[in-house]
Amino acid sequence: MKLLVTGGAGYIGSIVTRQLLAAGHQVEILDDLSKGFRDNVPDGVPFHQLSIHDVAQVLTPDAGFDGVLHFAAKIAVEESVSNPGLYWDTNVRGTLDLLDAVRAAGTPRLIFSSTGTVHGNVSGDDPSAKITEDAPVAPTNPYSSSKLMIDLMLAGECGGSNLGAVSLRYFNAAGASLSDAGHLGERHEPETHLIPIALQAAAGDRGEFFLFGDDYDTPDGTCIRDYIHVEDLATAHLLALDNTEPGQHKIFNLGNGNGYSNKQVIDVVREVTGAKLPVTLAPRRDGDAVVVVASSEKARRELGWVPTKPRLSDIIADAWTFYQYDKGRS
Ligand code: UDP
Repeated sequence: MKLLVTGGAGYIGSIVTRQLLAAGHQVEILDDLSKGFRDNVPDGVPFHQLSIHDVAQVLTPDAGFDGVLHFAAKIAVEESVSNPGLYWDTNVRGTLDLLDAVRAAGTPRLIFSSTGTVHGNVSGDDPSAKITEDAPVAPTNPYSSSKLMIDLMLAGECGGSNLGAVSLRYFNAAGASLSDAGHLGERHEPETHLIPIALQAAAGDRGEFFLFGDDYDTPDGTCIRDYIHVEDLATAHLLALDNTEPGQHKIFNLGNGNGYSNKQVIDVVREVTGAKLPVTLAPRRDGDAVVVVASSEKARRELGWVPTKPRLSDIIADAWTFYQYDKGRS
């Protein structure tokens, strides 16, 4: 297939692109490089440095794209709380611009990078409950709200056209794609995610490591998340591409179904890196959900998706290898 990857110079988009190319697809990337990196774009892949708002310049009726994988988005929870307008503009309005182009071009397939956090604290009452696709939605911050709005837009769009769309609701992506062609991994600036921040602290590359809250209603008082290896996440996109159906919008939750508390994550980072990693307790972070753990039974059943690296220690070990590689080249 000929595919457009928006946000393909970013963390997850670049790793999905690597897998699409390996599977024999033809890929073009659109990215404004506000957060992505030009060196994440493989040689020979046409690259359009453009805002998502200008996607119609690339996704034209004549370009002949068979599908779009849409990653271009703002992704920081805390920033979304302080600056919601940015999230409505880039995420919601940007997707409107994409859908206008998709409609005009008659593009048949769209895979969307959604988030498990659209469900908010749904499993808060029963921490053992895993979140299914039909669980109630209750986003706790503008980032998650913007992703939910897009899921709803896609449902409406498919209802009135031949577009086949899939929303993949990621739980917590981590790890890296290690390859002789160069490692791809997480390098957000500023970094906000737990695992890369803990690795920076373990490497002695940042001052203090702050743990945001230890008074939640969980066994050790810290928030619980479901970490999924980014390569397993990427594989689901390729399966989803083959699973789209005209006029239908499907949703799949992607996680391993195992919850790890922030304190447990810190312990595994200590094991993997051998660092002491001192922790400074800080207030709760605005907008944080308490327990977010996926049921991915539907993805296993309907997509035939099987995660190959579900162990947190393997996920963190790959992230650590990438961290050292990235530091070594800068
Ligand atoms: N977290 C933390 N210290 C940090 C970064 C994150 O304690 O420096 C916590 C955060 O409050 C949340 C968990 O780690 O409870 C996962 O946060 P992350 O931003 O990685 O993912 P998300 O919020 O999207 O689940």
